[in-house]
This record gives sequence, C-alpha cells and structure tokens, in this order.
Amino acid sequence: MPLYPLRFEPIYQYRLWGGRRLSNLLSTPLPGDEPIGELMEEFRGQLMGKLAPRFRRFPLLLKFLDAHELLSVQVHPSDAHPELIPAGDTAKTEAWVVIDAEKGSHIYAGLRSGTTSGILRQSLDDGTIADHLVCIAPKAGDAVFIPAGTVHTLGDDVVVFEVQQNSDVTFRLYDWGHVDAKTGRLRPLQVDQALASIDFADSNSGLVTPFVVTTAPVERERLFDCEHFLLWRLRGKSPFNVGAVEMPRVLVCIEGSGWIESEGSAYGIEKGEVWLLPAVVGACEFHPNNAVTLLEIALPESYKTGQQRESQSGRKLQLRLHEARGG
Ligand SMILES: [Zn+2]
Repeated sequence: MPLYPLRFEPIYQYRLWGGRRLSNLLSTPLPGDEPIGELMEEFRGQLMGKLAPRFRRFPLLLKFLDAHELLSVQVHPSDAHPELIPAGDTAKTEAWVVIDAEKGSHIYAGLRSGTTSGILRQSLDDGTIADHLVCIAPKAGDAVFIPAGTVHTLGDDVVVFEVQQNSDVTFRLYDWGHVDAKTGRLRPLQVDQALASIDFADSNSGLVTPFVVTTAPVERERLFDCEHFLLWRLRGKSPFNVGAVEMPRVLVCIEGSGWIESEGSAYGIEKGEVWLLPAVVGACEFHPNNAVTLLEIALPESYKTGQQRESQSGRKLQLRLHEARGG
C-alpha cells in the first residue's frame, strides 16, 4: 500500500523555561494516526525516496519551543570535533523561525567580535556572559540560523519553530542560576566541552535575510539553505504546489489552514500542525482555505559530511512540543 501524507504526532515535554502559550497557537493535539517511527523501518524507501540509502533514522527534529524564561546558554559541537560527539550521534545545526515575541524577548546567537575562550570563562564567574553574546530583539517572522559550534540561547517569552539535526549532543555553558523545580537543584553544566565546541571564528550565525524565490501563485521565500536542511516560507491564498518528486518534505502550518490534494484524497491541515509528505507522495497541490503561511522543509540531495555517524538504531520520528505544565 503506498504511503500518503502523514501528520506528526505531537509530544509535549516539560521544560523549566517553558511557558503556556502553545495551546493558543496550536490546534488541540490529537493522537497520531500512525506509529511513524516504525514506518521509518518498514517503509524507508517510500518515506525517503532517493535519500533512503543515506538515512536509517529521520535526520531532523522538529519542535515548537515556548521559551518563557531564558534557556541555558549552550552549544552543540560541529563535525570538526568528532571527539565530542558520542558514537551513533551527530553534530547539530539548528534554525529558528520566530512565531511570536514580546518587546522584552531575547535571542542570543554567536559571540561579539574579540571574545576569546578566556574572556568567556571569566564572564561565567562574574555573570556577565550576555555582554559577550550577539543579541537579537526578535519579532514574529524573523529567521535565525545557528550552525553547530555557535553559542546560543533564547527566551523571555519568545515562541519559535525549530528545525535541527536529529542529535542529543548539547553542552551547557551557563544557566542563569535557574533552579529546576522538579529536582530543587541547579542543572549540571559542561563548561569545558562547551568551550571546546565553540567555533570562535563563526561568521554566518544570526538573523538571515529571506531570499524571494517566487511571488505567484504563492510567495515562496527561502529562509535557510545549509547542508542539513532547506526551509522555505510560503504565503498564499490560491492553490500552489508543495512537495518534490521522490523526495520527502515536511509542511508546517503557522497561519491559516488548508488541505493537501494527493491521489484524489484531501488532507486538512490546521494551524500548528506538522505534516510529512513521504517521497512516494511526490509533488502535490496545496489548497488554502484562507490566507495561509506554511513552512516547507527539505533535505538536500547531496550531503558532504556526517552521514557516516548515522545511528543504526532507529530513533523515533517525532515532533517535540515543549510546554510547561504548572510551575
Ligand atoms: Zn540548541
């Protein structure tokens, strides 16, 4: 049986920095239709198409983050530091599309020029690390690129959609003195590994300028184009094409609603939902119900580094949603 468009199952996870705004943003989460992690094992060819030989697990994690407080200042190692990446895991480049922000919200991405490892280490002791980070006052629609090796954090009531390499390797540099309400303790830091992971010559992190690809029938802007993922923002009211022949794509509805037409069937998409178009679905038509804004995410066809680190064990393909439940 050929696969069809699949809705990601939302998984809510408690985080001490989390807020409570996702329930306004997202439609009521329903149980997923398919055990999608198992699909990756059984139907990898149909899901991944041309990319099937390269990936045993789905290579991206997709999340909505509701950051009421500042997350820890953290860094993920790049492929330049294999000694810092446990076997079976990968480097982690990530990118954020700002969904909602307040006047006092913050995104920190990268170091101010002239910041050395020594200066940074000293700033941890005297609590002045923010003075050495590039600070962005985010607004809805901003796109921020965080290549592996970039010091970063965000918070103070900002909501973002996050796309990142499917990796768990995070080193905390600083945590603002946050006490975890669950444990009553400070969370552990990994200062030495974090400092070793930082790319001090980092140049391309931070706010990106969208590149307009088409203006009709849909405004298609490319926000991110790196070796791990591509991401476009689509805004339109009339039907337009999504998906690609023999390639998987992900669609995220961040405004409005509509439906995907595939093989004569209609699949309704609501604001806040994330859908996978398996490679076998190919190109198809999206029909907006009203003015709609989608994000479309692709995996690049060629891939230079990192794939040799792909784990043999299948990790569940999942959408992680972060929302605080009290506290
Ligand atoms: Zn991160």
